[in-house]
Amino acid sequence: MMNGRIYNFSAGPSMLPEPVLLRIQEELLNCGGSGMSVLEMSHRSKVYDDIICGAVENVREVMQVPDNYKILFLHGGATGLFAALPMNLGTKSGIADYIVSGNFSGGAYKEAKKYLKEARLAGSSEADNFNHIPTPEELTLSPDADYLHVCWNNTIFGTTWKYIPDSGDVPLIADMSSSIMSEPVDVSRFGAIYAGVQKNLAPAGVTLLIIREDLITDPMPITPKIWNFKTQVEKNSMLNTPPTFPIYCVKLVTDYLKETGGLEAIAKKNREKAAILYDYLDSQDFYKTSVKKEDRSMMNVTFRTSSEELDKAFVAGQAERGFSNLKGHRLVGGMRASIYNAMPKEGVEALVAYMKDFAAAH
Ligand SMILES: *Cc1c(COP(=O)(O)O)cnc(C)c1O
Repeated sequence: MMNGRIYNFSAGPSMLPEPVLLRIQEELLNCGGSGMSVLEMSHRSKVYDDIICGAVENVREVMQVPDNYKILFLHGGATGLFAALPMNLGTKSGIADYIVSGNFSGGAYKEAKKYLKEARLAGSSEADNFNHIPTPEELTLSPDADYLHVCWNNTIFGTTWKYIPDSGDVPLIADMSSSIMSEPVDVSRFGAIYAGVQKNLAPAGVTLLIIREDLITDPMPITPKIWNFKTQVEKNSMLNTPPTFPIYCVKLVTDYLKETGGLEAIAKKNREKAAILYDYLDSQDFYKTSVKKEDRSMMNVTFRTSSEELDKAFVAGQAERGFSNLKGHRLVGGMRASIYNAMPKEGVEALVAYMKDFAAAH
C-alpha cells in the first residue's frame, strides 16, 4: 500500500486495484490522446466509443459470456434493476419466483410485487435470520414462472450460493453485485446476471446486465424508456448519456483482471484470503460467526465477539491499525470484513493479527 492508503473493508463502494487508480490518475488530464479528460468527453466520440466497446468486450472475454447473451450498462444501480427486471421479463404469465436469502433479495421481491401479477416467495431463510442459503428441499418453484430470481452473494449476512438451483426451463436471474468476477461462473446456466459495479468492478454509478437474447422482448408499457432492455440493446447502452466514468473504470479493472490471469487467478487469491479469516475464526472461540459453514461467502465475512461492548471496542480500534469500515451492517451488528478482489492478502493477514491481539487483550 502506498501514499498513506489503508485497508478499507467497506462493503461498497470499496477498494479498487492500486494499478487501476494510478492508471486513472495518469490518464485523467488527457485520455487516449484526445487532449481531454474522460470526465469531459462526449459519449458519442470515437475515443469514448472505443472505451465502452472495450468494456463490453472485456466483460465477455473475462466471464466467457456466450454469443447469445447481450451485455448492457444501465442506470439506477442494482436497485433500479429490482424494478426493471419484472417490467422486462414478467410479461408472459406475469408470475415470478423469488428466493429471499437476505436483505437485497428481499428488496428485489418487494419491488417486483409492484409490477407483477404475482411475485411468489419460492424459498426463504428469514426465520433463521438469513444464516444460510435455502436448500433445494426448502424451495417451492413454479414451472409457470417467467423467471426465478436469486441474490448470489448476500453482502450483509455473509452467505453465498454454492449450488445453482434447478429451475428447469424457467430462466434463472441472479443479482451478483457483491461477487461479480470474483470467480468463474457458467453464464450459460443463467437467463441473466446483473451487478451494481461498486463492489468489485468500479466506482458507483453503473449496473452491468448480462442477458440471454431470447429474454429481450417488449417490456410492460409502463417501463421507463431508460430501462427498456430491448431499446438499450439497439442503442448499445447509449439511449441517453451513460455513466461514462464508471464504465471507463470497468474497462480498466477488466483490463487489469485480464493482465493478472483472469477469473481463475483471482478466484485462487480470493479463496486464499477467505481461508485466512475463516481458518482463524474456526480455530478459536473469542469470535463467533453465525453463518452456516457450507454457505460462507468469500467476499463478506461476518463475525462478532461475545458482547456488543467488545464489538464496539473492536471497531473503535480499527483506525489505529490502518483499517476502516469493519462495523457490521445495522441489520446484523458485530463486524463485517468485505474482502473483494482488490483487497490484498496482506490486508486480511493484518486483520487477523489485529483480531488475535484484541482477543488476547480482552
Ligand atoms: C450493494 C448491493 C445492492 C445494491 O446496489 P445499488 O447499486 O446500491 O442499488 C444490491 N444487491 C446486492 C447483492 C448488493 O451487494
